[in-house]
Amino acid sequence: MLNISKTAGEIGAWINPAQNVAPVEPVTPPASEADQIVANATVNVRKGPSASFKVLRTLPTGSSAVMVGRESNWIKIEYKDQIGYSYINYWNIPKATLAKYPVKTTTPGTSPDGSGTDSPTTTKKLKVFLDPGHNGVAQGAVSTVTGELVDETTINYRVAILAKEILEDRGYMVYMSKSSLNQTVSLTERTNRANELGVDIYVSIHCNAYTDPASRGTIGFYAGEKLNPATSDWQAKSALLSQKLADSVGNVIGRSKIVKDTSYGKSFAVNRLTTMPSTLLELGFITNYQDAMILNSSANQKDLAREVANGIDNYFGR
Ligand SMILES: [Zn+2]
Repeated sequence: MLNISKTAGEIGAWINPAQNVAPVEPVTPPASEADQIVANATVNVRKGPSASFKVLRTLPTGSSAVMVGRESNWIKIEYKDQIGYSYINYWNIPKATLAKYPVKTTTPGTSPDGSGTDSPTTTKKLKVFLDPGHNGVAQGAVSTVTGELVDETTINYRVAILAKEILEDRGYMVYMSKSSLNQTVSLTERTNRANELGVDIYVSIHCNAYTDPASRGTIGFYAGEKLNPATSDWQAKSALLSQKLADSVGNVIGRSKIVKDTSYGKSFAVNRLTTMPSTLLELGFITNYQDAMILNSSANQKDLAREVANGIDNYFGR
């Protein structure tokens, strides 16, 4: 219980609507245009429904188009008499319009954009997206409970980089949400990229902090809601992913549990905006002496990274 109230601060930080939705200039759709949609970012319009198709044109934020169809998470749009496809999360789409084009159930294991099907290689690598939380030193949670600086962002990044190496050695295709510790990447940039890549799982890596120094342990959060899930079994898979990762990392930290992000609008953005099974993993509490000593040790960071990789192996039944 303690832990749940503690995480409220982090959840709050992650649901700032300004971070999740790019500002959109007010556009008044003509009354005749029934399924008018508005771009919430700079968007590519492609010849077909995946990122491997040629870009027909690029539209600026605030552009209006008409939705005329949907293929998984790619919408078919009409713009100035031209028909093309665009990634769904880049558009503000009225609920009534979205309801006209329900998502079709995709075959389990198939990437949402279908890119896996035209791969030239016969053995398809599992795609893992690792998302070390926050944007720079001291931009996430910090503590001095051990007598030295314990910086969440640095720990998140180090563990993610180490886990990437281990996972690549084990044959995974691994993508990272940022390529350097201090790189600034918004939450929508992180999730949109993973969605476009059609990764199999999304693992966001964080550390917890709370006013009560006794709170400790690993927590895996899985989403109560997803905006545009690629398959119907996303929640069971997200819960399983959270469980496997919390179990593995808990071997190092010494205590673990999983928590469902219950109410829509309060879920972590990374869980809510991704289309595939996802987890937000809080490795441990930087405000607890015992956890912080582990989290801040470079030797233990290797152990944590190995357990992240083991948890992912366990999820895939490897
Ligand atoms: Zn965090």
